[in-house]
Amino acid sequence: MNTTRTTQHAAGTATAPDSIRSVALSSVRLPLDTPVSDAKVFTGRQRPMTEVALLFAELTTAQGHAGVGFSYSKRAGGPGQFAHAREVAPDLIGEDPNDIGRLWTKLVWSGASVGRSGLATQALAAFDVALWDLKARRAGLPLAKLLGAHRDSVRVYNTSGGFLHTPVEALLENAAASLDGGVGGIKIKVGHPDHREDLRRLTAVRERLGDGVPLMADANQQWDRPTALRMGRALEEFGLVWLEEPLDAYDAQGHAALAAALDTPVATGEMLSSVAEHWELMRSGAADVIQPDAPRIGGITQFLKLAALAEHQHLQLAPHFAMEIHLHLAAAYPYEPWLEHFDWLEPLFEERLEIGDGRMRVPDRPGLGITLSEKVREWTVERCESGDPR
Ligand SMILES: [Mg+2]
Repeated sequence: MNTTRTTQHAAGTATAPDSIRSVALSSVRLPLDTPVSDAKVFTGRQRPMTEVALLFAELTTAQGHAGVGFSYSKRAGGPGQFAHAREVAPDLIGEDPNDIGRLWTKLVWSGASVGRSGLATQALAAFDVALWDLKARRAGLPLAKLLGAHRDSVRVYNTSGGFLHTPVEALLENAAASLDGGVGGIKIKVGHPDHREDLRRLTAVRERLGDGVPLMADANQQWDRPTALRMGRALEEFGLVWLEEPLDAYDAQGHAALAAALDTPVATGEMLSSVAEHWELMRSGAADVIQPDAPRIGGITQFLKLAALAEHQHLQLAPHFAMEIHLHLAAAYPYEPWLEHFDWLEPLFEERLEIGDGRMRVPDRPGLGITLSEKVREWTVERCESGDPR
């Protein structure tokens, strides 16, 4: 049997296999303009967030193709992701970049001892995203088109203007600015220790924006079950698109009971770190809106498996953070999704995503459509290369 890895196409042309020539990893610390607090800070579980740690992977191939991907961590974990990625990166050298599924499996087995979720697979996400970017770039297609898009734009709502440290007047100004900029919905954080403060803030936002603007609220896991039920009932009058993370991220049964008790849809999933964990939520009926985060669950390959399961369960989709990646993945989901708008990562990229009429347009550039900016180099704290970068 001929074992040469040359593919013969119907048209009679042959495509030689490519191979990964180099992998460069950068550990980047992105400073935030203002320390950021959600309910986890108000309950004393976390300090205000002052920076985001990013792990960038840049791949090149023998045939001259390139791809870039990233993973990230908020608060601790960035150096750990970088260390794990650096350790397994040499396993990619010489491999065919087309074989993304096989490569994810190879990398996960390289670190099998540290598990198939969490930090270990978040480190692999940077490679996985870069491989998908490379594949779409080589095809000359935006990633959404390569995957099979259902739409050219995705409904977008803003989160970054609605944090709990933001005074209510600034909250209203941020919301107005987002809507003026073309964003289609507003999410504000709740979970203040004084529940009346949550109601005051939501009332002010609803009154200022009017009934027609889609509004979401996010408690960041800080209510217990009785509080979540009481607050969930109190919030019904605001006509929220969803109530997000009312309970601990791993309380599938609690979420399921709440989702059954409330008219307001319940959204959760951003903190989970594998498809298996998401499947536990789904089969428990814990979410009306599922909120996966591709970097957090191991990359795009894993996200696509999750999306197939979510579609089968007829769930709404609202991916968490990293809109530069999730725009493409949301565009390829069958049911109309929501995309989360955070402007935090914008300094890292040369391009700006186009927003208007409540939606974000899928860029017509190949791949993810991102180019790393000079800020990435400026904020790089550690870098390593495997293979032959030339
Ligand atoms: Mg959230």
